[in-house]
Amino acid sequence: MSKLKNLPNLLKVLKDKIDKTGQTRGADDDVIYQNRVKRNNTVLIPYKRWDQVSSPPSGESSFENGFICLITPEDYFRNSNIESDLRAKSLALGVNALVFYQKRSDWVKYNPETLGWSPANNRRSPLQGNYVARVAATTSKKGEKICRGFNTGKPKGAGIRLFEYASSTQIKECGLQLEALFWMCYDSLDSVCKSEIEIDEATKRRDYCFTEANSKELLDNNRLKQARLINNEGYTTCPLCLERLSSHEFFQRLVQATGREVHDLTVTEVNLFHIKELRYGEYNHKTYNLGWGHHHCNVVVRDSGIDETLKWMHEVLNKNIENGHFLV
Ligand SMILES: [Zn+2]
Repeated sequence: MSKLKNLPNLLKVLKDKIDKTGQTRGADDDVIYQNRVKRNNTVLIPYKRWDQVSSPPSGESSFENGFICLITPEDYFRNSNIESDLRAKSLALGVNALVFYQKRSDWVKYNPETLGWSPANNRRSPLQGNYVARVAATTSKKGEKICRGFNTGKPKGAGIRLFEYASSTQIKECGLQLEALFWMCYDSLDSVCKSEIEIDEATKRRDYCFTEANSKELLDNNRLKQARLINNEGYTTCPLCLERLSSHEFFQRLVQATGREVHDLTVTEVNLFHIKELRYGEYNHKTYNLGWGHHHCNVVVRDSGIDETLKWMHEVLNKNIENGHFLV
């Protein structure tokens, strides 16, 4: 989407915001996941869920940057047929599977260092090792943090959560649809033209985006409406509260509660919203499932999904009405 060279500043802000949606959520050094990387990176698949969830998204033959299957020490060491079980699933330790230590008791009982194993550091086969470890520190004397494998290179971490995965095509199409949804805000031209952008330039960009999105069948109004992304008038809405979104909110920083420090200056009033939540067994970072919504509404929905959240809100309201705390 960068055919227009030298994007004006405000459109750059928008572009950055959209590019960020193609990345995974943040992760710190203590976990095995990579921190904010593209969603088409190597995926981590838990061995326990292998039979149910290991297929790539429908219509795709493989993960663009491969996968690593993670086996718990218990599953590995307590199963005398593990090698043949792995072979039956086309898995092999050090090739596309690793033992993943998270519990200190497992580390002591099945210590990989006494087995002469080495920690893995490669995300593509061969993985250059047979295990990875992330054991949290405890207060006891022997309770130091254990962190082996994928902890030196940049970015750290072995891969991404399976359900955060999206192919590069899907990431691009999602970005295009999200930009179209920005332009479908009732006042989109108003906000971008307030600053340094001329109306002609803004209109050109908007129309270019609509044409591109249309050519990829990303502007089906019925589907957008069904997904709560737009209202009957065709204007972009917050998927939870269904209020029309103002494009100004895309550029406004979140007003923090009094007394709270602002840690993340990149948080704006409007955030990426997943209509169906991300979870194992589904790939929900896809077109017609992503929209923009209020930061506060997003915080309420979190990982529960909109339907579950509405049910909960309904119960909360009913309880409050029944008890006379909320008058309608
Ligand atoms: Zn809202």
